[in-house]
Amino acid sequence: LAIPDFSSFTADITGIYESLLPERRGEVADYIPQLKRVPPEQFAIVVCTVDGQRFSIGDSSVGFCVQSVCKPVNYSLTLEEHGAEVVHRHVGREPSGRGFNELSLNGDGLPHNPMINSGAIMSCSLIKPDLDIADRFDYVAATWQRLSGGRPVGFNNAVYLSERQTADRNFALGYFMREHKAFPQDTDLVETLEFYFQCCSIELHAGALASAAATLANGGVVPLSNDRVFSTGSVQKCLSLMSSCGMYDYSGEFAFTIGLPAKSGVSGALMVVIPKVMGIAIWSPRLDGHGNSVRGIEFCRQLVEKYNFHMYDSL
Ligand code: GLN
Repeated sequence: LAIPDFSSFTADITGIYESLLPERRGEVADYIPQLKRVPPEQFAIVVCTVDGQRFSIGDSSVGFCVQSVCKPVNYSLTLEEHGAEVVHRHVGREPSGRGFNELSLNGDGLPHNPMINSGAIMSCSLIKPDLDIADRFDYVAATWQRLSGGRPVGFNNAVYLSERQTADRNFALGYFMREHKAFPQDTDLVETLEFYFQCCSIELHAGALASAAATLANGGVVPLSNDRVFSTGSVQKCLSLMSSCGMYDYSGEFAFTIGLPAKSGVSGALMVVIPKVMGIAIWSPRLDGHGNSVRGIEFCRQLVEKYNFHMYDSL
């Protein structure tokens, strides 16, 4: 078993959850009204081991938008479709040291990595570019459904519409990349941006996100269904970039103190991967100054204090 004494493990998770309930620091994302309106005290933790043991606590069946947590999934899809060599003609793999939506490209005129907005827009341009936009979205939604263990995923149309309405920066990033000829030939920029906003607006609950995280922990095979969604090679590359770039401008500090691949989103979603052991989803909408869930970060801190999950704890 990945976690031999699962009941004492879940007792510890419950303890951490309860200790964080009084935590009220941080602000809900307010760049669109639909996110600002989300009740801020909601909190869910779900763990799913690579051998299918599961535990949930809190608001684990309330839906939230994946937002930036779509980035590792979309990046993995591009690797499956084109291979790393082709994908990385269009996007780098170096942390940017800049904000997730900063108007900057690397020395080759490419987005720094797939975990920031510019790189995620690039991933969208590479996903099934020959299909029509409805089929491209269906393909991404179907991937999330498989990652969730088969449960259909939702879509928050209001979030999508307002993302599109308040997208000056993302449009600017798109035009900036097009100016540098970073996109594959024949990319329709507006369609690509809309596809990116749609991917951010996919709605899941923490149970589904934990299953997706567990799939990455399991090398690309969904523990609940034994469905292989990604090749192990794609997952290795994705986890490497989550380790170095997944937590916005806190990625270096997170790698140092927590030592696990993870990806956060402005909805307060956080997916943490403990390779060969489990995936964890934490959702709590109040964000710190870096844009990471306050309770999410605090949960990780307490988890690695109690358990030797830091990548280098095994030394
Ligand atoms: N939709 C948001 C954006 O593109 C997502 C960013 C995020 O989660 N950090 O600005």
